[in-house]
Amino acid sequence: MKIHHLNCGCMCPIGGALFDGFSRGLTARLVCHCLLVETDRGLVLIDTGFGLRDVKSPYSRLSPFFIHFNGIQFDRKYTALDQIERLGFSASDVRHIVLTHLDFDHAGGLEDFPDATVHVMQSEIETAQDRRGFIARRRYRPEQWDEVKHWNYYSAGGEPWFGFEAVRELDGLPPEILLIPLAGHTRGHAGIAIQTPEGWLLHAGDAYFYRHEMDSAERRCTPGLRAYQWMMEVDRKARLLNQDRLRALSIEHSQDVRLFCSHDAIEFNAFANPTNGTQSVKLSSFGDIANG
Ligand SMILES: [Zn+2]
Repeated sequence: MKIHHLNCGCMCPIGGALFDGFSRGLTARLVCHCLLVETDRGLVLIDTGFGLRDVKSPYSRLSPFFIHFNGIQFDRKYTALDQIERLGFSASDVRHIVLTHLDFDHAGGLEDFPDATVHVMQSEIETAQDRRGFIARRRYRPEQWDEVKHWNYYSAGGEPWFGFEAVRELDGLPPEILLIPLAGHTRGHAGIAIQTPEGWLLHAGDAYFYRHEMDSAERRCTPGLRAYQWMMEVDRKARLLNQDRLRALSIEHSQDVRLFCSHDAIEFNAFANPTNGTQSVKLSSFGDIANG
């Protein structure tokens, strides 16, 4: 099993370091950290970022509110499809897509892979179809997924995994890939855990947004990302409880599990360019992040 870390979208909200904790200019730099996993059942994509159709006609697919608020950068080179083709594969090689949730910055590439089966929590598709409220109507964009032909939905409950509930045995997927329900940011939000020879990898999606929320006993977060998480949450109690549990996991089981979130550029670079280390990463341009 080979794992590629792909950045499938760049967002530059106004706020600089008040958002990302490192930018010197007026705008911050957020990535869309996705995974491409080569398995014996074909390619498995974990989240999709923004897709080709988002790049071609953003205003027919996405909410202008989030296009501007998040400073979304639309460029074909960030799409999963473009990167997968550059790795020598084609769209039809992607057999499965596992989603942390259905927000616009995670589900945009679904329709670029018409042969793939999409795996997501049942409660997530239900709230995405319901779209009740100002944020829900703008975060969930049926234009991004109404042509998906093959869905598999899962309900919470299952076997324990480091104290979390885990949905094991996703239909058609290798047993090394698990769904870990982590509600709060959205109703059906989940992390995706992958067992590798080097230990577990946990894609925590938007369960947290900033690297220092996880690496010490006391949560540290920039004011911008704190406010963004507050604006997007659907269940504060569940969100903060899951962050506490993830923080404990990250500290107490650092030898067994490496976790990361969707949007932290420094975290992404540490996985995509492990030899650079986190201190010497070049973050002067998005190319350095995206091409990792
Ligand atoms: Zn997100």
